[in-house]
Amino acid sequence: MRLVTTASQLHAALGNVPARSVLVPTMGALHDGHAALIRQGATLARERCWPSGCVVSIFVNPTQFNETTDFDRYPRTLDADLRLCEAAGAAIVFAPALAEVFPPGHEPSVPPLPAVATQPQLEDKFRPGHFAGVCQVVRRLFDLCTPGAAIFGEKDWQQLQVIRALTASLTLPIDIVPAPTVREQGGLAMSSRNRFLSPEDRTRALAIHGALREASQEPSPARAEARMHDVLAEAEIRPEYAVVRDAETLLAAGAGTTRHRALIAARIGEVRLIDNLGWPEERRVALSS
Ligand code: AMP
Repeated sequence: MRLVTTASQLHAALGNVPARSVLVPTMGALHDGHAALIRQGATLARERCWPSGCVVSIFVNPTQFNETTDFDRYPRTLDADLRLCEAAGAAIVFAPALAEVFPPGHEPSVPPLPAVATQPQLEDKFRPGHFAGVCQVVRRLFDLCTPGAAIFGEKDWQQLQVIRALTASLTLPIDIVPAPTVREQGGLAMSSRNRFLSPEDRTRALAIHGALREASQEPSPARAEARMHDVLAEAEIRPEYAVVRDAETLLAAGAGTTRHRALIAARIGEVRLIDNLGWPEERRVALSS
């Protein structure tokens, strides 16, 4: 595995052959959820006989944070991240400095934001500007890494739909491949932010997955939403949202909806958590190894 930090090192490591690698973009502080994405990326690269293998980018992108305190305290654990990347089968880790991604005076533009990024009462309401930052950095990483495919976790369901829509609207020749959510024992979705939960809050946070699971048994989206609010209230959690939407557009489910997704965002103490699950019940649940 090679660690590179500049665009020229990256291009040399890629052998200057575009579209022959699988990119896994991350912000570091890697856990078993990221490891699963990297393993999936390495397998995909092997299947497609792409010689550059799986490239993991590690970059804490300031433009997607709403609160500087959140950016400042975002965990940075590069040594441990490199060990995890190697064990999971990454071929290249690209860990650029800020100026490499956003060269002063030549800041990459923000691409047009897909409609799915700003659907009412979801992330945009509580993290305005977040997806503009995500689209900006992902577009830039795509330009730098020139992958043939990129893997994104279903854990960040709205982000996955935003990146799919962005890639389609820019007609980029990159397959966007989803990866299932990896959970801790008890169902809490793995997140780099879980380390900030107190033991009591970690227990309360289990209600998020519990609410999604119970909602998945309900016969209608309206009943599912009510159920989520009830389960969360029992744990004294007031969510930012707990909704069932069209899985692709994230609009309110309507007559044309073929796939639904239940989505929750909630602050538990200081920590903002998001999670989602197919509605009605889906059986695919990946457990941490
Ligand atoms: P992050 O470093 O948090 O920006 O996440 C990098 C990638 O890992 C994104 O595509 C996330 O959706 C994905 N990811 C984060 N947590 C998980 C998880 N628990 N299971 C699967 N994928 C995840």
